[in-house]
Amino acid sequence: MTLAMVKQPEKTHSPSLIDGLADAELTPEICNLEYWLQAIRCSLRGYVHGHTPGLAVPRHMLEPGPLREASLQEFAFRATTEQMTARHLSHLVRTAPDQATMDFFATQLIDEARHADVFRWHLVEMGIPRATLEARMAEIVGNKRDAILRPLEQFALDLVAKPDADFIGGVIFLTVIGEGALAPAAEMSERKWRVFDPPAAEIAQGANMDEVRHLGVGAEVVRAHIERHPQERGRLLELIQRGLQLWQELPILPLLIEREMLFQAGMEQHRSLLGDYELIPGRRLADTTVEERIGLQAHWADEMRGQRLVRMGLTGLTVAG
Ligand code: FE
Ligand code: FE
Repeated sequence: MTLAMVKQPEKTHSPSLIDGLADAELTPEICNLEYWLQAIRCSLRGYVHGHTPGLAVPRHMLEPGPLREASLQEFAFRATTEQMTARHLSHLVRTAPDQATMDFFATQLIDEARHADVFRWHLVEMGIPRATLEARMAEIVGNKRDAILRPLEQFALDLVAKPDADFIGGVIFLTVIGEGALAPAAEMSERKWRVFDPPAAEIAQGANMDEVRHLGVGAEVVRAHIERHPQERGRLLELIQRGLQLWQELPILPLLIEREMLFQAGMEQHRSLLGDYELIPGRRLADTTVEERIGLQAHWADEMRGQRLVRMGLTGLTVAG
């Protein structure tokens, strides 16, 4: 397949993270370095810090209040997860078994570093001085980083940072347990901020377009590995089971509840701005509730994981996430 035959991401009508078919044909061979250079040139053309130049954070996001607090919490948390993901990818680049996967994960490493950067810049554009950004981020997400992200990071390091690194386990960690599990929240973020904070939504959309590629190629790498090494299936299923078990033990639900309650309180203050904007077809964002938005994310998570596991050839899992 040539580059010209591969569909390029576009700024509009981009594939959604929850569209199960969006990433169906992606492989590390297709998403090679040249593809990546063309794709990001196309998707980020003209953008500065991840969004249209001059698109300012609206005034209602700069005023103290729950809407601003919801956004600060969300973007500080995401900047932190992206930074950790970039570091995890360094191990995948280091241990990739062939050129195509090495190159692909090298592009993903830069993507994740870029995501962390644009999320951090969004915090600066929301008025946090650049000089105090690290300290403010630690204040905002420090507890959540320690309670949620550190255990996940340790789980991943146990796979990839040892001398006989488990490369494919590290790919599964990203595709099913880490990024894969966070993708529904990323999709929700893009949709939630579209009206309230257009630059934030553009930043989130740009990251999500990359995520479609990451999850698609990651799933393909696992699928091909299992096809070549069917005896690995049991071990990898057990790994996924352990990862999903860990997720269930982490205080992720309280984080989502806090985030959505702040958003709800902010939405109540600024509801008129939303008009008839729909979160999903037929459902106005202004009418949604905390429970509904969390339920929607859980539903997307189940669906996406189910589809991805089937595609990888890893069915027969008994743990619900
Ligand atoms: Fe990312
Ligand atoms: Fe990613």
